[in-house]
Amino acid sequence: MKKPEVLVVGAGVAGPALAYWLARSGYRPTVVEHARELRSGGSAVVVKGPAIPVAERMGILPGLRELATRNRSLTLLDPDGERVLRLPTSPEGSPAVEVTRADLSEVLHRSARGEAEFVFDDTVTALDQDEGGVDVTFRRSAPRRFDLVVGADGMHSTTRRLVFGPERQFVSDLGLHGATVPLHPDAVDDPSELTMLTAPNRMLVIHPSRTTPLAIFTFRVARPAPHDRKNTALHKRTVADAYAGMRWRTPELVAAYLDHPAPYFDPLTTVRMPSWSRGRVVLLGDAAAATALLGDGSSMAMAGAHALAEELASHHGDHTRAFATYESRLRREVRPRQRRVGLLSRLMVPSTMAGLVVRNAVGRAVDLPLRRARAAAPAPRA
Ligand SMILES: Cc1cc2nc3c(=O)[nH]c(=O)nc-3n(C[C@H](O)[C@H](O)[C@H](O)COP(=O)(O)OP(=O)(O)OC[C@H]3O[C@@H](n4cnc5c(N)ncnc54)[C@H](O)[C@@H]3O)c2cc1C
Repeated sequence: MKKPEVLVVGAGVAGPALAYWLARSGYRPTVVEHARELRSGGSAVVVKGPAIPVAERMGILPGLRELATRNRSLTLLDPDGERVLRLPTSPEGSPAVEVTRADLSEVLHRSARGEAEFVFDDTVTALDQDEGGVDVTFRRSAPRRFDLVVGADGMHSTTRRLVFGPERQFVSDLGLHGATVPLHPDAVDDPSELTMLTAPNRMLVIHPSRTTPLAIFTFRVARPAPHDRKNTALHKRTVADAYAGMRWRTPELVAAYLDHPAPYFDPLTTVRMPSWSRGRVVLLGDAAAATALLGDGSSMAMAGAHALAEELASHHGDHTRAFATYESRLRREVRPRQRRVGLLSRLMVPSTMAGLVVRNAVGRAVDLPLRRARAAAPAPRA
């Protein structure tokens, strides 16, 4: 019997993970990615929670552990650069593994590339569905008909726009912007330490990453300018204005941002949709339900990819029921995260000095029981 053909749009994290699981469930996946090669940007993401068993079953967990960042602690600095607090970044014994986003995408792609066709430097321009399939028009390739289409094309999904409508209907702003720039390896003294300077409405992190450290700017502006994703000059001006007058290593890090030809910049947003599927088209990962800031979009994307392939296999070709059960399974994970993200954004980047004091007190309160537990634990045997 002919295997059903599925077009997966996007080769970030969700796309390759889904291609891997679809191929094992009796489908023929094709992945189309608009970048010329796998995207290299992004700082660290944490593979945790429901993504751990998925990674285990894919056999990629040992490889991810080898690529893990060596980051062990987070040092919080006050607006003058004085150390306030030092916290462990993940509890001891936690199975979670922090890797760079690019490493994760690469590992997933390596697992899937023997099982699926990958087409780079192309994208969908039109999706026209009927009872029996979806006619897809591409920017470069010849038009093709697929049984199903999955939009795994991230926060600014084209699949979502073509099938569900404009982005503004589904995206809400957290009032924060995120910007990153790679740094020279010498910019970091201790590769196990993440350093975070916070002043009202502004946070600046040096993340040692694994090979290339990153400066991460997260900030609130009083009157956000209309967002233009391609206007690098505007992004640079916005970052320079937001961090003007800040102390510590801020001038050096802002200069690195200004010097880079194409530094990353995006408002931090959440995606909330009433339904993740329409007919034969379904959304996955950030395209369906992004929660920027929590840093677990990759884990949700991997768990979602596995759940979608599993539901398609167990509903034997009934994509309508498969999409509905996939969505209700994943929404149970996504809903509590989306509820927390507003409060978390205010806690992480407080708008006043008083808010900063509260944030640091919360950090201490969270750390204290962990420290007590560590102190009470029996010493490991030699
Ligand atoms: C460059 C970049 C940097 C990031 N940095 C961080 C970070 O530092 N920390 C963090 O927690 N999260 C980061 N994220 C988000 C994180 O990767 C996602 O939350 C998570 O991986 C969810 O995976 P996803 O596959 O749904 O989306 P993504 O990982 O965003 O992957 C989407 C993929 O689709 C591709 N794509 C987009 N539009 C089209 C199109 N029209 N046609 C074909 N392909 C398309 C993109 O190039 C990308 O490869 C970043 C994402 C990107 C793209």
